[in-house]
Amino acid sequence: MASRVINFSAGPAKLPTEVLERAQKEMLNYNGLGISVMELSHRSADFTKIITTAESDLRQLLNIPDNYKVIFKQGGGTGQFSAIPLNLMNFKPGGTADYLVTGTWSAKAAIEAEKYGKINKVVPKVSKYTNPSTWNLNPEASYVYYCSNETIHGIEYQYIPETNGVPLVCDMSSNMLSRPFDVSKYGVIFAGAQKNVGCAGVTLVIIREDLIGHAMDTTPVIFDYKIQVGNNSVYNTAPTYNIYILGLVLQWLKDNGGAEKMEELSAVKSKAVYDIIDNSNGFYYSPLDKSCRSRMNVTFRIGCQEGDEALEKLFLSEAEKRGLISLKGHRAIGGIRASLYNALSVEECMALVTFMQDFLEKHQ
Ligand code: PLP
Repeated sequence: MASRVINFSAGPAKLPTEVLERAQKEMLNYNGLGISVMELSHRSADFTKIITTAESDLRQLLNIPDNYKVIFKQGGGTGQFSAIPLNLMNFKPGGTADYLVTGTWSAKAAIEAEKYGKINKVVPKVSKYTNPSTWNLNPEASYVYYCSNETIHGIEYQYIPETNGVPLVCDMSSNMLSRPFDVSKYGVIFAGAQKNVGCAGVTLVIIREDLIGHAMDTTPVIFDYKIQVGNNSVYNTAPTYNIYILGLVLQWLKDNGGAEKMEELSAVKSKAVYDIIDNSNGFYYSPLDKSCRSRMNVTFRIGCQEGDEALEKLFLSEAEKRGLISLKGHRAIGGIRASLYNALSVEECMALVTFMQDFLEKHQ
């Protein structure tokens, strides 16, 4: 088998090696059953144990209050861009919602929501993210929506926005379980699993009970929170294998210090990369205000503010020779993006830092 390289992909992303090894060990014969989890009925006692353990581990890791329900669904983050307005737009008369648009993913969510109600797009400038008093929020809105980590631009909120009682909805797809947070501040939280909590194909949704049961009549059954909660995520065939992998990742998180430890490690990892950028005399360039730089996705240009594309290409190919892969920025903004999710160890991150230092010395 080829040795494993260090994967900085933004997603689907690196998984903990222990999780992959365990899945490999159990692939053909899960728990002595003589079959794979992939071959197990979603209504069997063994799968029920997998999904209930995953839920209770998640509840423990995030300290989820009892008045919140958890579902595991297909459809990805994009599915939730539709599910959120379908379930919540009519929570209050008037059918309006505030969307904080701070990057590609919140912008896409807002465009989708416009099909179902009146959307107020709040577009704070990067430098204003830290000053919510300048945002124009509607107290009559059914909900306020934001994305806590914009994976493409590398922008992360370092606090929970205050909405004065209006239910807060958050897309945590790319920073879920990377730090502890107070679930009770939220109405709905969702996260596609393929970055910090598992593999593509399953999306976690955490919903406050009083927000369930307000879906529009036209809501597809697959997106109706009431139906999914009422059937413990197995109204239809659940993404069983993905839920199993997610369960293994949650177990790994519990074994490795939980969200508190992930926060500590993500601070160490992201600081090391940002320090190189900030001390490079502009050779590495980050356009973002320090207060909203992401700990998960570090984006930067090389050579100059706009990026010297030839130098960036060289950076990527030399990095690959050292076994550091998937560092290319998203096609929408170019440049470099290093994703430092939970499964990436400090040592692996330091291999990037060393490479960045060597590249700087050679090409500055
Ligand atoms: N939200 C965020 C923050 C993302 O990073 C992504 C995908 O990368 C999505 C939503 C869309 O998720 P999906 O591709 O699972 O629909």
